[in-house]
Amino acid sequence: MKRILFLSAALVVIAGCSANNDVAELPENIKFDDPMQEQAASGEQLQVVASFSPLAYLVEQIGGEAVAMTNIVGAQDPHDYSLSPQDVVAFEQADVALLQGAGLEPWAQDIVTQLADKDVTSIVVADILELVEVDGKEVDEEHGYDDHDDHADEHHDEHEGEEGYDDHEEDDHHGHDHGGIDPHTWLDPVLSQQVVTAIVSTLSEIDPENTEFYAINGANLTTSFAALDQAYQDGLGSCARSDVIVSHDAFGYLAERYGFELHPIAGLSTLDVPSAQTLATLKGEAEEGITHILAEENSVKRFAETLASETGLEILPINALAELGAEEDYFEVARQNLASLKVALGCE
Ligand SMILES: [Zn+2]
Repeated sequence: MKRILFLSAALVVIAGCSANNDVAELPENIKFDDPMQEQAASGEQLQVVASFSPLAYLVEQIGGEAVAMTNIVGAQDPHDYSLSPQDVVAFEQADVALLQGAGLEPWAQDIVTQLADKDVTSIVVADILELVEVDGKEVDEEHGYDDHDDHADEHHDEHEGEEGYDDHEEDDHHGHDHGGIDPHTWLDPVLSQQVVTAIVSTLSEIDPENTEFYAINGANLTTSFAALDQAYQDGLGSCARSDVIVSHDAFGYLAERYGFELHPIAGLSTLDVPSAQTLATLKGEAEEGITHILAEENSVKRFAETLASETGLEILPINALAELGAEEDYFEVARQNLASLKVALGCE
């Protein structure tokens, strides 16, 4: 066993460790009369490693005191990271390892292969969700998502089951241009609920003693994501504009779900630097009814600022939620993103 002793005797207040205080609907087989009742995680702590903050956040919400979490990338850009020897040890000593896949963590490809040989259960999100492929050439030439839907449908079947790391090497242009499979599912409140379910069932399988604890926390988290989904539906339901420029192509799942069009400056990776042609095309598009640029605090921001000064478009903050620090709350930042989107799109 790779577990360490569960040293903390602290009780975990269920409602207090969820993302909000809504009382979640509980699975029928769980009797839980008083939502404020204290429920202790018991036994030894599971060792869980998450590649980056959104996954670490989910594990912390679901696992609470029952897990010892290692967040590999932390408050840094997961697109641009190098594994340290300590990171490798953390992965190898874990009971459960969580990764996003689909090229988000190009630095983790080898680790995933190695974990298969060790006694580590890994969850690769790209393997459990249906991801959308963004075609590099089309985006490059036309700079838009006009063909986005078609490509998603076209490529869905042929890529089903190969969005993870296994087939990664066959994908020549992954991370090298604007195309590839979009890994940014954590921004989507509906897809996130599927990931919650997967984490709850994996933790319960490995640590059956805490099945109820994981189920209750997972139900609370699902309620929070459903509320966030509703807020996005309500907030973006009636808007004057449909198009917005974003600093990197991280918001495609949100755009699909809530019905707006993205014009990304950089590609799926923050390392995909825009070409002069891309910037020229965006300048043209800026004159056709786009009023705002949603810019993250990253290396792409300088391009957003140049574009803003050349076009007179206004910059608003957005956060791809990938680099959340320990102090930042996923749901709070997601609602700040919604506020920016509402202004950018002129929603009522
Ligand atoms: Zn990204």
